[in-house]
Amino acid sequence: MQCPICGKKTQDNMSFCSKTCQLIDLSRWFRGSYRIPTDERPEPTEERSAALPPQTSQKEEP
Ligand SMILES: [Zn+2]
Repeated sequence: MQCPICGKKTQDNMSFCSKTCQLIDLSRWFRGSYRIPTDERPEPTEERSAALPPQTSQKEEP
């Protein structure tokens, strides 16, 4: 699979490459469901890395 946060290849049954990305996704979901008015800060810089060209190698791996 491919990490939806940073685009890295993940472990076999993992949805995310790391706990960090899992937390990022969770926080996104959480903020999407519950608008927290006291924390409207911009996304962490790590998300910007998603703008980088995707890794084409091992793209077809299950
Ligand atoms: Zn990731």
